[in-house]
Amino acid sequence: MTTVPKNADLQAVCDICLQAIRPGEGAVWADQDAAWQAVWATPTTSGRACLAGQPAAVEWQTDHTVCVEIPGDAFTIPVEEISRWSSALHWTAHLISQRWVEATDWSEYLLRSLDPQHQTPGGLHPLQPQDRESEPCLIGNWP
Ligand SMILES: [Zn+2]
Repeated sequence: MTTVPKNADLQAVCDICLQAIRPGEGAVWADQDAAWQAVWATPTTSGRACLAGQPAAVEWQTDHTVCVEIPGDAFTIPVEEISRWSSALHWTAHLISQRWVEATDWSEYLLRSLDPQHQTPGGLHPLQPQDRESEPCLIGNWP
């Protein structure tokens, strides 16, 4: 069995045992129920909770299913479904339209994956090191 799916460019690493998670053996997940409770507990401005700038109530986690009992109502992304940057972007597009995600640290989770300086031992890790410093910065170079 291979560690990562063919054509993968992300490796999921378990937050608990710090070992690579093979396809079918784990997930990226968040406690959706706890996130909804945080949204509901937040005072609203014009009918919408304002969670911007607040610490995330719920953290996204990356775990083997044998290392952690993932709650049945958790939002789970099987590791084999988030093994490429393009699939991470797809999930991001899906998640940012959902209100409960505002109470999670999804953006920080992805940034930790992108930036080796802020990478945690567990989580999603690029199979090819990302070096954004050497990439040309196009911002500000537009005519
Ligand atoms: Zn594990």
